[in-house]
Amino acid sequence: MVNNSDKSENIENSRDVSRDFLESILETVREPLLVLDTKLNFIDGNSKLFDVFHVTNKEAFISEFEVEEGIFKDLRAILENALPLQKPVEDSVFSVIHPVYGFKSFKLNTRKLKGSGYILVSFSLHEDGDDHLDFDEIFSQAPAMICILRGPEHVFERANENYFQIVGHRDILGKTVKEALPEIEGQGFYEMLDEVYNTGKAFIGNEIPVKIDAGEKELKNAFLDFVYQPILERSGKVNGIFVHAVDITEKVEVKRKLEESENELRYLIDTVPAIIWITGPDGQNQYLNKNWYIFTGQTVESSKDFGWLDAIHPDDRPKVEQNFMNANLERKDFHDSFRLKNKQGEYRWVLDSGSPKYNSEGQYEGMIGTVVDVNEEKVKEQLLKDKEHRIRSIIEEANVATALYTGKEMKIEMANAAMINLWGKDRSVIGTTLHEALPELEGQPFHDLLQEVYTTGKTYWGKEDPVDLVIDNKLRSGYFNFTYKALRDEKGEVYGILNMAIDVSEMVRSKEMLRDSESKFRQMADLMPEKVSNVDANGKVIYFNQGWLDYTGLSKLEFEQKGINNFIHPAEKDEFEKTWRYSLQTGNDFEMEVRYLNKKGKYKWHLNRAEAIFDDNGKIQIWICTATEIQKIKEEEKRKEDFLKLVSHELKTPVTSIKGYVQLLLSLLKKKDDMPLSSIPFEKSLERIDQQVVRLTRLISEMLDLSRIEKNKLVLQKEKFSINDLVAETIQDINYTNTEYNIEITEEFHCDILADRDRIGQVLINLVTNAIKYSPVNQDIEVVVSKSGKNKVAVSVKDSGIGIDKQNLKKIFKRFYRIDFKNEDTYSGFGIGLYLANEIMKRHNGKIAVESTKGEGSKFTFTLDVALEDQND
Ligand code: ADP
Repeated sequence: MVNNSDKSENIENSRDVSRDFLESILETVREPLLVLDTKLNFIDGNSKLFDVFHVTNKEAFISEFEVEEGIFKDLRAILENALPLQKPVEDSVFSVIHPVYGFKSFKLNTRKLKGSGYILVSFSLHEDGDDHLDFDEIFSQAPAMICILRGPEHVFERANENYFQIVGHRDILGKTVKEALPEIEGQGFYEMLDEVYNTGKAFIGNEIPVKIDAGEKELKNAFLDFVYQPILERSGKVNGIFVHAVDITEKVEVKRKLEESENELRYLIDTVPAIIWITGPDGQNQYLNKNWYIFTGQTVESSKDFGWLDAIHPDDRPKVEQNFMNANLERKDFHDSFRLKNKQGEYRWVLDSGSPKYNSEGQYEGMIGTVVDVNEEKVKEQLLKDKEHRIRSIIEEANVATALYTGKEMKIEMANAAMINLWGKDRSVIGTTLHEALPELEGQPFHDLLQEVYTTGKTYWGKEDPVDLVIDNKLRSGYFNFTYKALRDEKGEVYGILNMAIDVSEMVRSKEMLRDSESKFRQMADLMPEKVSNVDANGKVIYFNQGWLDYTGLSKLEFEQKGINNFIHPAEKDEFEKTWRYSLQTGNDFEMEVRYLNKKGKYKWHLNRAEAIFDDNGKIQIWICTATEIQKIKEEEKRKEDFLKLVSHELKTPVTSIKGYVQLLLSLLKKKDDMPLSSIPFEKSLERIDQQVVRLTRLISEMLDLSRIEKNKLVLQKEKFSINDLVAETIQDINYTNTEYNIEITEEFHCDILADRDRIGQVLINLVTNAIKYSPVNQDIEVVVSKSGKNKVAVSVKDSGIGIDKQNLKKIFKRFYRIDFKNEDTYSGFGIGLYLANEIMKRHNGKIAVESTKGEGSKFTFTLDVALEDQND
């Protein structure tokens, strides 16, 4: 806009041309005319021009004309467009909206004034234009409240619909403002109107509050932007005021609310327990909340611009500054952790994060962020790192296979060489999860165990647990003693698991072998007829075999409860316990014969032996005990003892007898001079001596035979001979010495047999001499040779002696078995005759049998094969 002094200068210049001449022309033309220079500066205009456009004088016109957005906006546009063409404008239509007089439409023509370079602009009212548009029609739709007040009392002359609305459609026209709007008294409006009226100066009010009766229950609180524009008469005198007001209540309210919420936000920002910062697009500090100042002790001044960076630890500052400036430049999120100096001068670790912010138009406004004190966490993290470092070095140096897993996914954080070796893998497994490193563990219980330890925090001890591992592409099974120990952080929360493992495969396998052999031993022990037991160092029975249960007829539990010692015969019990105690104390071998009660209630002799097994330190580990039944041996022994007694007795008797006769004869011979030789009983004495010698010989040969049989050295001299002849000869021999007995032979059958003649004769002698021996009263003896079945011959010797009771019938063929009689001397003998007879028969494929009734007599029969016709010796 051209200022006032420029305008006056232009006017002055125009005067130089031919001011008077121009003016007179202009004034005579009735059309409105305007003279401009080629730069569209005002040169002159006629009165009609001022009339048409409702301006009072040239100055008023100039100021309106030269306003770019003024009422001559359209006119200027047309002229500016036409200028470069140097062409006249013809009948161009433009409109003017006058705030008071309304809308008018004009036709425009221009002519260049030759010689002067001026442009003559003429206006004529456009035909379609309406000079008499109604005020209401023009302004009714205007978004503003408009009214015109006339005279010094400000009488409402006109008002548009909006104005009526704000005054509650009161009948205001023709009334003074005071009369029409009494409620605004005291709000300063009357005064303002008076001022404008009196000074002729417009008044512009912004956001002026007003309480007005808008026809509602209460006075309306409104805010207005308004213009009081004086309306001047042509003389320049004010005769009215043009009021143009806009209700901006809503805008003001929004603004107020915005301010309120901004305040609230600021308050909020100041009260949150964090530092909040806002930086501008250049990264400079725009705002820091109270907490920043409290924390750092900085002042608004010292934190200004980039002053906030000064609170950062000098070692961290370059890095932080760089990070922040980059984030700001790239408009990206910013995160950093650094040491920030607090008021006390102490550096604390903080976490700083910011994000870019944009305004509603999408323009970058800088960053907003927070700073949080994480010193505690950072220190703990550091401690944890130290701890971890310590753990790491322990693990690396440990001889025991050791690994550390972290997180629920069991990441192998570390594993020492021993562990990697044990796994059969290489160092590449570190950093992977256990799942990835050892897929073969799938289906084995370890993943579940680890998860359990991780969640419960309870240590797991694996003892000799089987583990299958793939080593050199082969699945190998091993046994391990291992621990899964939960590792906890400072808060006590589990963050990992320490795994230590020892390969005990060898040990387990040898144990298994031991168990195997132990179970084999037990099976074997159970199969043994022997009674076997194990006793610990304290004498407690820890194992006994089936043999004991079979013997006692008890169940395992019953036997356990009763205890082995309670089966011992009372006669041996004390001695047994004493001796056993001694062995337990000394570790000496134990051996003792005791009787144990069997399930039938009978005591049987057993040989008890116990031997201690010692450990490497010489301590007793276990006793292995056996009890072997020796009842039969014991009985045999007894018989042998008895036999020896007998033998000495039996040998002594004939020798004593022989010695007696010899002494008798010798003493008689010494006296032969005194007595005749014939009176000496030579024959009788020698016969007696002979008898005793025969007896002695027989005893001795029986004993020899016994020893031969026992040594299996009895040799048979087989020959074919007549059994009948043998019977006849033998009986004849016996008859010779046993004249008082009547031995009768019946030969029902004659045959030869193939046998050892002497041995068969020995058997016969034995049977017949027994018949004699055990028949003290009835002296009839019957010997029968008969046929027995096909090709067999039987020889029986029957007596009517003392007989044998049923229970002894089988036993008499046993070695040394003699029926006990009360008077032992009644029947002398060794108890080996029948045993020998039986043995001889067995060797001849023959048999010997007995039939007997106690007190009535016995019948012994032996049966032999008949020799075949062509059989030779
Ligand atoms: P011994 O030398 O005692 O006769 P044996 O072996 O010949 O030995 O006989 C064993 C036992 O059989 C005898 O002790 C006796 O009790 C019984 N015995 C043998 N023959 C007869 C018999 N004819 N009558 C009764 N008892 C007999």
